[in-house]
Amino acid sequence: MRKVLLVRYGEVFLKGANRPHFLKILTDNVKRAVKPMGGHVWMSDSHIYVSDVEDMDECVRRVRKVFGLYSVSPAIECEKDLDEIAQHCVEMMKPYSGTFKVFGKRSDKKFPMNSLEFAAELGGRILDANPNLTVDIHKPQHKLHVEVRDKCYICCEEIMAVGGLPMGTGGRAALLLSGGIDSPVAGYNLMKRGVRCCAIHFQSPPYTGELARDKVMQLAKELAEYSGGMRVYLVPFTKCQLEIHEKCPEGLGTLITRRFMMRIAQEIARQYEAQALITGESLGQVASQTMEALCCTDAVVDMPVFRPLIGMDKTEIMEIARNIGTYETSILPYEDCCTVFTPRHPVTRPKLDTMPKAESKLDVEALVREAVENTQMEIVY
Ligand code: ATP
Ligand code: MG
Repeated sequence: MRKVLLVRYGEVFLKGANRPHFLKILTDNVKRAVKPMGGHVWMSDSHIYVSDVEDMDECVRRVRKVFGLYSVSPAIECEKDLDEIAQHCVEMMKPYSGTFKVFGKRSDKKFPMNSLEFAAELGGRILDANPNLTVDIHKPQHKLHVEVRDKCYICCEEIMAVGGLPMGTGGRAALLLSGGIDSPVAGYNLMKRGVRCCAIHFQSPPYTGELARDKVMQLAKELAEYSGGMRVYLVPFTKCQLEIHEKCPEGLGTLITRRFMMRIAQEIARQYEAQALITGESLGQVASQTMEALCCTDAVVDMPVFRPLIGMDKTEIMEIARNIGTYETSILPYEDCCTVFTPRHPVTRPKLDTMPKAESKLDVEALVREAVENTQMEIVY
C-alpha cells in the first residue's frame, strides 16, 4: 500500500488533436510543482498521479495551483485483494459521519466481482465498522471512489484545483505589476489561460523605498507559485517622473506617466519575446482609467494591451485577490510611484490630439531608452 495523489485535468479534454501536446506540458508542470518534494509523477488512464511525497498536504497545496487541473484527491493505492481493499475503505471512512455511497469501478475485467457487487460489498463492510454512517445512493454527503485497474485506487476527498489551461500553452505577456490589489489579479487571469508572464515594476527611489520593492517581489513570488517561477524587471523611473512633473501640464501628469510606463514596458516586453501587455486597470476606477484616458495610454504602443479587470468592481477584484492569496500582501501600506506626484485636479477626459504638445518638452525617446537600459532583472520562485 502507498499514498498517492490522484489528479484530474480539466479543459485539456477538449483539445482534440492537440491533446497530447497539452497533456505533456501539463504533466511537466505537475512534475515541476512537486520536484522540491521529490515526488514521482506519472500518467495513466486519463489521470495524473503523484507518489513518493512525505507531506501530502503540502503536495495538495502545490499541485492544486497548477493551471489546467480540475481537482485532486489524496488516495490509497493497494493490491487487488478484496479484504485489503475493504480494510483501507473502512479506515478511510472512519472519521466521517452522515450519508455515503461507494462508487465502484472495475476496469480490470479479471477482477472476480462486477462494479455493483463490489460497491455493495464494500458499502456493507463500511456500515458494519462505522455506526455513524448510513447509505444514501441519491444524494450522499461523502462519495468513496474505488477503482480496480492495474492496482486498486481508493479516495474520498475531492479538492478543487484552479482550472484554466496549462502554463506555457498561451504565449507570453508582460504584466505591469504595481503593489496594489488589482495588477496581481489581472496577471493571474491571463496566467490562468496558459499565458507565461513576466512582471515589470516601476520604482522611483528615493520617493519609493525598499519596503515597496520587497512588497512587489513578494507579490511576484505569490504569482510565481502558479507558474513555477517569474522574471521581474525593475525599472528606475525617477528621472521620467521628475521630468514629467517639471515640464508637462500638471493635470495630465498621471496620464503622461502612464504613457511612459507603457512605452518602457513595450520595449521590455519585446526583449522577453512577449506579444502583449497586461494591466490591472478597471474602467472609471480613477482619472487615468476613463475611456478617454485609456485611449491616450494605448496610443503609444503597438502591442495589444489586455485589461482583464476592465468591467469588474473593486469588491469583485478584492474577492479574487483573497482567493488567490495576494490580498494580504497588496494591502501593506507602502507608497507606489504613481502616488508620488499625483496632480490635484487630474484631467478625466483628455484629448488624444493634445498629447504630443503636452509631451513636447520631453525627449521621450531618450528617457525611454535610459530607463530600459538601466532596468534590472531578477527571477523569483
Ligand atoms: P490599486 O488600484 O489597487 O492601487 P493598481 O495596481 O490597479 O492597484 P493603479 O494605480 O490603479 O494601481 O494603476 C493601474 C495599473 O497600472 C496597475 O494595475 C498596473 O498594471 C499599472 N501600474 C501602476 N503602477 C505601477 C508600477 N509602479 N509598476 C508597474 N505597473 C504599475
Ligand atoms: Mg496602485
